Amino acid sequence: MDRTWPADWESRKQGDSCPFCADLASMSFFSGRTSEALLERHAISAGHSAVVFRGRHVAELGDLTPEELANYFQDVQHVARVINRAFTPCHLNYLLLGNWVPHLHVHVVPRYLNDSAPGMPLPWAPSPVPADVFGHQFAQLRDLSRESNK
Ligand SMILES: [Zn+2]
Repeated sequence: MDRTWPADWESRKQGDSCPFCADLASMSFFSGRTSEALLERHAISAGHSAVVFRGRHVAELGDLTPEELANYFQDVQHVARVINRAFTPCHLNYLLLGNWVPHLHVHVVPRYLNDSAPGMPLPWAPSPVPADVFGHQFAQLRDLSRESNK
């Protein structure tokens, strides 16, 4: 059987050249107890964000302690509430993939009543968010995160 995953997959899972370990804070609109929330610059829907575990390189959910797990999902819930307020989607999808960057993160993907795949996952076809739109969305999420965190 031929290997289909990249030759460096195992070392990436160990954290070698991990972009999230290298820099998280500069891209974050919300710093939680265990995570930073990033707005995707290439989004599969408006408001598509990722909640990235912070503190050390972790590839699998099973590598968290019970306390880290609870705190992490409280951060995910907080970000989901902020996205709901900012974007008023009809539903949210939570994707824990890590197939490209194997550092624990949950994609929070807003779904809309007019999106292309009702009842199904959205196709993974990110498109670039224009800089001015991104700036506006980022500021809105950052401000709402602070408000609702008081
Ligand atoms: Zn990492």
